[in-house]
Amino acid sequence: MDKITFGTAITCIDGRVQQPIRNWIIDRYGVDYVDIISEPGPDKLLAEGWPSDVAPVRHKVTFSVKNHHARIVAVSGHHDCAGNPATAEEHWAQIRRSVDLIRSWDLPAEVIGLWVNEHWAVEVVEGAARDASRPARP
Ligand SMILES: [Zn+2]
Repeated sequence: MDKITFGTAITCIDGRVQQPIRNWIIDRYGVDYVDIISEPGPDKLLAEGWPSDVAPVRHKVTFSVKNHHARIVAVSGHHDCAGNPATAEEHWAQIRRSVDLIRSWDLPAEVIGLWVNEHWAVEVVEGAARDASRPARP
């Protein structure tokens, strides 16, 4: 049996977003499971939060990547977010800043930014989505 593979997703605590994000990552990246790190309005937290608020998220992402060898880390924002009631344009800017921040952590994983729109469909904000035929990182 092949080794079980993981991705890592930083999502809102909002129960409407986790399933679309998880399914999208499994579909596009061919991983078996997605570790979910949830915070209210994580795009705002990572883009504008205090270092003391960002540190626990960084710890959890690093834990997931190191222990589950996740090769994809996706940070996301979503429509109608109670934790971050910003415009879509503001969300997209925050998601891009979040991607830049996570890339600066220099983890051995691809970092992308995702948006869950008003139809609860996933759009790519930052980073190229690869197809599921992409070989796994050794
Ligand atoms: Zn939210």
